[in-house]
Amino acid sequence: MKGVVYRGPRDVRVEDVPDAKIDWPTDVLVRITSTNICGSDLHMYEGRTDLKPGMVIGHENLGQVIEVGSAVKRIKKGDWVCVPFNVACGYCRNCERGYTGFCLSMNPDPETAGAAYGYSGMGPYRGGQAELLTVPYGDFNCLRLHDDAEEKETDYVMLAEFRTDPQSKKLATPSGRIELYSERIAGFGYDDCPPHPTWLEPTEWLGAAGPYPLHLVSSQPRERLHSQMDMGPVSARAKVAGREAIAINPVDARSRGIADGDVVRLFNARGSCLAGAVVTDAVAPGVVRLSCGAWYDPIDGGEGATCAHGNANVLTRDQGTSRLGQGPTSATVLVEIERCNEPAPPVRAFDPPLLAESAA
Ligand SMILES: [Zn+2]
Ligand SMILES: [Zn+2]
Repeated sequence: MKGVVYRGPRDVRVEDVPDAKIDWPTDVLVRITSTNICGSDLHMYEGRTDLKPGMVIGHENLGQVIEVGSAVKRIKKGDWVCVPFNVACGYCRNCERGYTGFCLSMNPDPETAGAAYGYSGMGPYRGGQAELLTVPYGDFNCLRLHDDAEEKETDYVMLAEFRTDPQSKKLATPSGRIELYSERIAGFGYDDCPPHPTWLEPTEWLGAAGPYPLHLVSSQPRERLHSQMDMGPVSARAKVAGREAIAINPVDARSRGIADGDVVRLFNARGSCLAGAVVTDAVAPGVVRLSCGAWYDPIDGGEGATCAHGNANVLTRDQGTSRLGQGPTSATVLVEIERCNEPAPPVRAFDPPLLAESAA
């Protein structure tokens, strides 16, 4: 078969290589009809990895099954399939939890979780920029497409028309081509939004030393829609000590004397709030998570009051990602947390306001 072979930095060639075949009863053999050149291929193409010369690359693959191993039950010869980039077993602890990118059985390096096709450090699996591809554990790793897959194949392939004919099937960009640099955005002269993709140091992050050592992720809540229905029973069930739950790693909790279920106070230079601690290794050390949307409950009212309920907005920045983008930057904010040793004030966010008459 022909395949795209890595020969060294900036040197890939279409060469004749041994045919991919069924090596194990659980394998599926796919005749590749479409494959992408991924941005991730550039890591290898430009020589930034230790990929061994001779590897067939390509990890975004689509095609038709031409042979199945004797243990394959779900996938049939003739099926059209799309194959995810990672190679997973489907039965290890990580695969069972859905973390197939961190499969524990497919990478021969015991120090590395996860495997992929035609990729540096991701196991011996040859890639799909080739006429044929062996898919290990084909029943698990093949996504079977609908019966009209052949007819609609280009629907699954990004920019297929443009790639076939870039002259007449132009993209909706000023030049009609893929643009990595925007003259128009350059014209705005925004120092916080350069005209090409750039990593800009966040205002607050764990990579820079500062007075507040924990990275607060103010996620969307699982139990309500932002702040909607916060007074309802589903949202109420997730509260801890009657307040919004804050997830904190056991390491960070221990060093602060915080136990599961404690009322804690989060603070930074912008404000403070109370919350109920959930000590869990679901968040990494140095990271805490407090979902947004707990109804605001200022303890004494007025400017700068501590929120008794755990509204994350008292801590987050109100600036957008850039003058152009204006996306939320709330996930990048640093805080400190301490255990509340005083009796915590009651949460009154759900008490109806006094009516003028009954107040009189
Ligand atoms: Zn990719
Ligand atoms: Zn696995």
